Amino acid sequence: MKTYQGSCHCGAIQFEIDSDLKALMKCDCSLCRKKNAVMVGVHKSNFRLLAGADSLATYQWNMKIAKHHFCQNCGIYTFHRRRSKPDEYGVNFFLSRRSRI
Ligand SMILES: [Zn+2]
Repeated sequence: MKTYQGSCHCGAIQFEIDSDLKALMKCDCSLCRKKNAVMVGVHKSNFRLLAGADSLATYQWNMKIAKHHFCQNCGIYTFHRRRSKPDEYGVNFFLSRRSRI
């Protein structure tokens, strides 16, 4: 596994993950269809929020189990706590300086 860093568009939220980038996914729930985000699944022990906790906004809907986080300044979806696997984050795949994690 390698360590990858990512951030939202304005840079307020920064994080890093340890991943082999094999668990890429697209979710077809009604929210993710609108976001059209490609995500990588990361166990919570392999995810570190480095900056921007106070810039994180959270959206919840339906059963209110999953937590969908985004930057309240630039609006970019960063990561979410998964409903089906609460020990995992889904992380926006396109958030590194090189345009993807
Ligand atoms: Zn931002």
